[in-house]
Amino acid sequence: MPSDGRAEQGAERLMNSQTEGLVDPRLNSVLDTAVDGIVVIDQAATILMFNKACETLFGYTAAEVVGQNVKCLMPPIFSNDHDHYIAHYQETGERRIIGIGREVQGQHKDGTIFPLELSVGEAKVESGRQYVGIIRDLRPRKEAEDKLEDLQAKLVHMARVSALDEMGAAIAHEVNQPLTALLLYLQGLNRSIERCGGQLPDNGVALMQKAERAAARAGEIISRLRQFGEQQKQGRERVSPVDLVNDALELILIGKRAMNVVIIRQFEENLPDIEVDPVQIQQILVNILRNAVDALRDRDDRRIRLVIRQSDRAVIIRIEDSGSGITDEIKVNLFKTFATGGKGMGLGLAISRSIAQNHGGDLTIVDAEIETGAAFSLRLPIKMSTSMD
Ligand code: ADP
Repeated sequence: MPSDGRAEQGAERLMNSQTEGLVDPRLNSVLDTAVDGIVVIDQAATILMFNKACETLFGYTAAEVVGQNVKCLMPPIFSNDHDHYIAHYQETGERRIIGIGREVQGQHKDGTIFPLELSVGEAKVESGRQYVGIIRDLRPRKEAEDKLEDLQAKLVHMARVSALDEMGAAIAHEVNQPLTALLLYLQGLNRSIERCGGQLPDNGVALMQKAERAAARAGEIISRLRQFGEQQKQGRERVSPVDLVNDALELILIGKRAMNVVIIRQFEENLPDIEVDPVQIQQILVNILRNAVDALRDRDDRRIRLVIRQSDRAVIIRIEDSGSGITDEIKVNLFKTFATGGKGMGLGLAISRSIAQNHGGDLTIVDAEIETGAAFSLRLPIKMSTSMD
């Protein structure tokens, strides 16, 4: 960013031109135009200069803080150690922030504590050392991260709900017609039998045949829905399973860095591409990873291990977590719709398994070899078989 360069150059010139903490007013006005906050302190941590951006950030005017210890801009967690830190650095030269830069917290005049990125430069002047801090407010970035995380959670939720809506509406609409016909034929037959005093009427066989055809039609629709995935083969692409897994991980871990989940990747070399609908497979991976992250929330040991290997004509993606594990009660119905152990809808795994099966693969829970947590295995054939094969 151009403002950085300007600010740093300005600060350097400031150092070279300063004597005994007196700041050239021309330079002061230059530094006041910097977008970043710039604060100059001496070796006793006394503030010598405080630019306009700092005034906005911290709520103090320069007149209020120049001459004060810089600790007045920090929350106690940082200010308590600051004197000791400066003394330690001056004695030993050991750097923890100078020339490195890091994320710390600032405290506004009104007491609000906020995250900021601080980089510190050092200069030797006649009277000793001076330090220039360049400060950037991290709140807008954090807000954007939170928003992204929120959006991502909504997206995953919507994907689940819309899959149910679509499937439910399609099934209801299609199956309802033959079922209504079946009902009407059977009711008609019943009435005719009553009218004939319990005997089969003349049109009885014809009505029964019509009812049978309506029932067969309902059956056909169900099996067509099962082949729904087959019809979507055109949407399939050859993609790298490693890319699929890494993309899903990225999506799931955005904004969750604070949770410190350790990701262990064990990917076999030379894995083949797989022929899948990448969006649908992403949906499976995101569902499983989201469940895993949820299960790690209250754990100290937070690990997710991802293994990808080839087995015969399939690629196996295994996702293990060190979370709370799945209770036997939930395990029995795990892949059924509305089986949930929490606040979810209990659809994720049911939909995920049906997508995997429509791809000619499967999604299963791995029971053996797991010390703690849960493990799922997603098997996807390298090449989809078609009805022509
Ligand atoms: P939802 O997450 O909407 O409840 P899912 O079908 O994705 O539905 O999961 C069903 C239930 O299975 C979850 O509510 C949770 O109790 C349990 N579960 C799934 N994955 C894990 C996991 N990795 N660790 C612990 N429990 C899990």
